[in-house]
Amino acid sequence: FMRVVVESSGFVGRGNNEVGVELLCVVKAVLKKIKRRVLVGDKVLVGSVDWVDGRGMIENVFERSSEITDPSVANVDHLLVLFSMEQPKLEAFALTRFLIEAESTKIPVTLALNKCELVDEQTRLLWKSKLRSWGYEPIFCSVDTKHGLKTLEFVLREQTTVLMGPSGVGKSSLINALRSNSHVLSRDDDNWIARTEGGKWSEYQRVGEVSVKSGRGKHTTRHVSLLPLSSGGYLADTPGFNQPSLMKVTKRSLAQMFPEVRKMLSAGEPKMCSFNDCLHLGEPGCLVPSDWERYAYYLQLLDEIKIREEFQ
Ligand code: GDP
Ligand code: ZN
Repeated sequence: FMRVVVESSGFVGRGNNEVGVELLCVVKAVLKKIKRRVLVGDKVLVGSVDWVDGRGMIENVFERSSEITDPSVANVDHLLVLFSMEQPKLEAFALTRFLIEAESTKIPVTLALNKCELVDEQTRLLWKSKLRSWGYEPIFCSVDTKHGLKTLEFVLREQTTVLMGPSGVGKSSLINALRSNSHVLSRDDDNWIARTEGGKWSEYQRVGEVSVKSGRGKHTTRHVSLLPLSSGGYLADTPGFNQPSLMKVTKRSLAQMFPEVRKMLSAGEPKMCSFNDCLHLGEPGCLVPSDWERYAYYLQLLDEIKIREEFQ
């Protein structure tokens, strides 16, 4: 099979299979007819291949293991939450919101903390033990000094990862730093310069721009591509969830988004509070105490979600 790595607004994808040959693909009419969408990240069956021109036709889309929106990417198996130690300063509640949003996708989450060269060893150690108590093993990194980038490449290997985090923490810088080691070497609006694994250079032209006849000019869609990494695996070049909405989180599921609560409820054998709709607010038979660090954040987010649910 092949992997769709780019979607242009003309609905033309490029597949990239395991040996690194890229094909410019159109989607078979019958798939469009049954409204089967092709997403970046989809595993697809490609037929009618013209190896000389590097073209093919997407004939079928395999079942997705996951699908996220904003950006739309299929088969994401890893989320990398990026924050910075300074500029902007690391802040526990803002970080918690992002982590909850990430956890709500049920996709495994890794936490990385950038600009680590701006703080001293002691600050890093304090955060490290704090975050461990939350259930995360943070990776300290610095795009500027390259500290930790090897570790990050290692955790990204063989996986399809979407990066998320607030603005200014260094997401674009990180994508660029990792990209310089990968096969896609440069990009402007219309052209991609890419290299196949065999080392043959080729240039791709984006095709199939659909102009919208509404008179309001061209649609600007949020463009996402998957960058093949040298360690194997892909990194989406468009960060996701800049503003955590917590829309997928319900009152009842919120507690499950905290790894430290999951741990409390599964130590030894899986345990349950007496009421199966327990919100862990001191109900009789509740197994989640109130003496954990992020309990106050839990209460605050619970209120927020309650208000949202009432207005739905
Ligand atoms: P984004 O909004 O998350 O995509 O952040 P950017 O990649 O645009 O980076 C925001 C600013 O942080 C830029 O001025 C970068 O040069 C700077 N920056 C990125 N990484 C580092 C780092 O490791 N250390 C320091 N000191 N600055 C960095
Ligand atoms: Zn409970």
